[in-house]
Amino acid sequence: MGEWVNQKKAWCFKWRRALSFREQVIWEEMCRAIEHVSLVEGNEDSWKWKTETGGCYSVKSAYKLLQGPSLGNADPIFHLIWNSKEPSNICAFIWKTVLHRLPTLDNLLHRGIITSVHEACCPLCSQCLESANHLLLECSISATTWSKLYRWLGIFTELPNNCRAHVSQHNFSGFSANQNGVLRMVWYAVAWALWINRNQTIFRGGNLTAEAILEGALLGAWHWMLAREEE
Ligand SMILES: [Zn+2]
Repeated sequence: MGEWVNQKKAWCFKWRRALSFREQVIWEEMCRAIEHVSLVEGNEDSWKWKTETGGCYSVKSAYKLLQGPSLGNADPIFHLIWNSKEPSNICAFIWKTVLHRLPTLDNLLHRGIITSVHEACCPLCSQCLESANHLLLECSISATTWSKLYRWLGIFTELPNNCRAHVSQHNFSGFSANQNGVLRMVWYAVAWALWINRNQTIFRGGNLTAEAILEGALLGAWHWMLAREEE
């Protein structure tokens, strides 16, 4: 995987096949992680858990690491996300969405994984750069899906055009904590359904209608509710 040049390790990775989008993102993250690591020739490799001074893994430090952003900036939205009862992959998806860490095309462009602005166009409308805010809120199919949802819920409110503010807003006065929790769950389900639809459009072609996305989202939310009741 590399050779020593003037007592410095020069990495040289070779792949047997082309990397997928997801693997490209992981690969990019790994490159950043090892970028400033200095190896010493002849020293044995060993494992070290960076967040503990002794280098030993502990569940407590891992929990703090995962909770980091919420502890760091005390934004209540992170507390709501990680304390919700939705499946953990959904919580992680929403957390990444709020932090702008989804592998949307604007992020891939920013990281140099794709190199032309043309490639970073929204795969659903081809009208502008694909960002999480555009894809999940502003793209015409997404805006129509949200509009249908709120009409169905009987809620009339101004909705912000960024994901963090959008989901944070689901803490309506006049609603109980449980009701707001259900509204946030529906928000998560719609955002997730839009993301799945986007991925299917990219990898398999064709995209769903707003009605089909909303139907799938509500069905997903219903399954999560059933799972909650079984706990
Ligand atoms: Zn679009």
